Amino acid sequence: MILKTLRTYFNSELLGYYPDTEISSFFHILSEHILKLNQINIALNLYQVVSGKKYDKFQTAIDRLKVYQPIQYILGQTEFYGLKFKVNDSVLIPRPETEELVDWIIKASISKDKIRILDIGTGSGCIAISLAKHLPNAKVLALDISSKALKVAQENAKQNDVDVEFMHKNILSIPNYFLDSQDRFDIIVSNPPYVRQSEKTEMKPNVLENEPHIALFVDDDDALQFYKAIVQLSVNNLNKNGMLFFEINEYLGNEMIKLLQKFEFENIDLKQDLFGKDRMIKATKKA
Ligand code: GLN
Repeated sequence: MILKTLRTYFNSELLGYYPDTEISSFFHILSEHILKLNQINIALNLYQVVSGKKYDKFQTAIDRLKVYQPIQYILGQTEFYGLKFKVNDSVLIPRPETEELVDWIIKASISKDKIRILDIGTGSGCIAISLAKHLPNAKVLALDISSKALKVAQENAKQNDVDVEFMHKNILSIPNYFLDSQDRFDIIVSNPPYVRQSEKTEMKPNVLENEPHIALFVDDDDALQFYKAIVQLSVNNLNKNGMLFFEINEYLGNEMIKLLQKFEFENIDLKQDLFGKDRMIKATKKA
């Protein structure tokens, strides 16, 4: 089949499933990925024959798009903070809000040398790996409860040529004294599960049906469960003046401030994301 016919076929197959603009955007993304043709080169190569494995990849993508699988899982990769990351359904697809969190951490720590960073619930490793890449003086450790996620994160560290120490651990069952005092951290960061079960109705079906629920949801009656465990761990494992950074549920900013105050954290700074929602918070451990 020639590319021109493939495009018509692609559009007609997905008609009614997505808006037209999204269908053509999928076609461009897939052409770039499968045929290495950007938008201009598609127009210049409309009579190129697409057959065999390449054609099969388009057909598979059509089938998967029809059941609303995210394009990032179909491609098996995505971009985050300018880096390429492998993704599959064992890890959340990195979000733009999380890039803002990473940017905040990098700006707050770029001038420091020899810092130790811990990322809790690393998933694809996007936070830990971006920090390791941009803060060459940092020693970065990352943990996750899911061994499947850790496998993805390890591959991502290798692909991005950074050294991150990964650990298979459940934050809810780590004793508060995780480390020796010599090995304390300067920064502890986490984007833990924070969507309440009652907020499921606000979520898009393609997220609900495809992304790992273990990385997304918490019970309504203990929505800050992970934050409580991490704040408690930080009391004993952060250096004095060390910083805690969290991505948070947009509706729970005040509760987060109260939690951090209860454990005597200072300079609490609640920040909005690019959509204007309370999405991240930073706090400092008392000197
Ligand atoms: N921001 C994500 C979403 O709503 C949730 C991330 C999380 O629970 N940590 O899709």
